Amino acid sequence: MKSKKTNQILDKIKRLKKERRAVILAHNYQTSDVQDIADFTGDSLELSRKAAETKAKVIVFCGVNFMAETASILSPDKKVIIPDNQAGCTLADMITADKLKTLKSRHPEAVVVSYVNTTAEVKAESDICCTSSNSIQVVNSIPRDKEIIFVPDKNLCRFTQEETSRKLICWQGWCSTPHTNISAEDIKKSKQAHPDAKVMVHPECNPEVIDLADEVVSTSGMLRFAKRSKATEFIVGTEIGMLYSLKKANPKKEFYPANDKAICPTMKLITLEKVYQALKDLVYIVKVEESIRQRAKKAIDRMLEVS
Ligand code: SF4
Repeated sequence: MKSKKTNQILDKIKRLKKERRAVILAHNYQTSDVQDIADFTGDSLELSRKAAETKAKVIVFCGVNFMAETASILSPDKKVIIPDNQAGCTLADMITADKLKTLKSRHPEAVVVSYVNTTAEVKAESDICCTSSNSIQVVNSIPRDKEIIFVPDKNLCRFTQEETSRKLICWQGWCSTPHTNISAEDIKKSKQAHPDAKVMVHPECNPEVIDLADEVVSTSGMLRFAKRSKATEFIVGTEIGMLYSLKKANPKKEFYPANDKAICPTMKLITLEKVYQALKDLVYIVKVEESIRQRAKKAIDRMLEVS
């Protein structure tokens, strides 16, 4: 049962959303309140695609900055706003365009693959983007005689390297929370408590965690796996917000966090109150400078062509 105050905010958001002709997009790691008020929930790429398709004038992006930037890259004519402009991503911050340029100067013939968890400036310096669900396809689309630089996540790089049998030049970045907080010990303990459960983890997790998993899948891959699997119990190795999305889509199945402290603090900065303020004052606007946008879009478009 929601409090009177929450119901009042929800009513105000719904009214303003109509007035502004806005759409609310929420990442699967957002709180349940924010996921429930959203028109669409999904992973960063699914949401950016929704942003590009929508006829809405205003897009309220409940996620972190690089995701809102990607939406703005794909939808330059729409107003993209993020309810808290401090919602960054520690992984995206681990590489800058200048650092990538330095690495490229050492490997001038290399193709640069960048995970979507990067800033627009880094995407603009890249040849092709990837997500955790298509990194294997993206790398396989590159001729075998080409060197490949892969940024910024070292665990996704290692996983892609193993799955494609390609030698990649891996940037040594990582998601400081929540993915690297999940340990092999967490998985073993969860398995003891729920011996019939299938273990699904995100490829950003540490290698020893990946080795214990039944499925190594992206956020959208987890939803697909849980739906099609005959199993009724799952141990989930990613940010705990995902459990709400999984349970909502599969009410008869059970989902357990591999580690209930696997929380992305910046994802949780966005609240219903901030969504309301964002719609009321149209803050904070995310806009990518045009020359960067065009170059970054090329890298995203290339990925969409191959996946
Ligand atoms: Fe970035 Fe990790 Fe948070 Fe995802 S979970 S937004 S990779 S810090």
